[in-house]
Amino acid sequence: MNRRGTPDHALPSFRYHPDPIASGSVVPSRDECAVCGEARGFVYAGPVYAEDDLDDAICPWCIADGSAHREHDVTFVDSEAFDEDASRDAMAEIVERTPGFATFQSERWPSCCGEPAAFLEPAGITEIRARYRYLEGQLMPYIVHEMGVSGGAATRLLESLKRDASPTAFVFKCLHCDGYPAWIDRT
Ligand SMILES: [Zn+2]
Ligand SMILES: [Zn+2]
Repeated sequence: MNRRGTPDHALPSFRYHPDPIASGSVVPSRDECAVCGEARGFVYAGPVYAEDDLDDAICPWCIADGSAHREHDVTFVDSEAFDEDASRDAMAEIVERTPGFATFQSERWPSCCGEPAAFLEPAGITEIRARYRYLEGQLMPYIVHEMGVSGGAATRLLESLKRDASPTAFVFKCLHCDGYPAWIDRT
């Protein structure tokens, strides 16, 4: 620990979820990890699919090296979340060895350029206008065609997006092109 009380070590790298602290899926914690028994400064706060109660109890290192999955048969993302072009290897890496993220309904993990994209963060209209302005033009057709909301209601839905409450946009980044696949979830 350094003087600010934050650990000195960097998190393990996750190809499909590059900054799980920014996304809110990994949070600072003094608790011991239920898998390795060490207090490593962070725990995973996202969804956990397991028989055991492992909510807020697994360190990101035990997710990355696969030990949480092997020892507790835990997964972190719904295996039904993927597009058809997702390879078995990519799906296994995401479901078994990548932090997931909390949604209201079932998750979606979209692909771009033939591979599942990297999850960046949940976003509201504030985050979209600050960091992903071009997404506004992309989310409008999503709201109209995928969600079946049109006219003034579509604009209001877009304006009402919130990072921490329904409705929320989930922003991904393609690992190959400049595409940012995104989708909206609500209660
Ligand atoms: Zn651990
Ligand atoms: Zn792409």
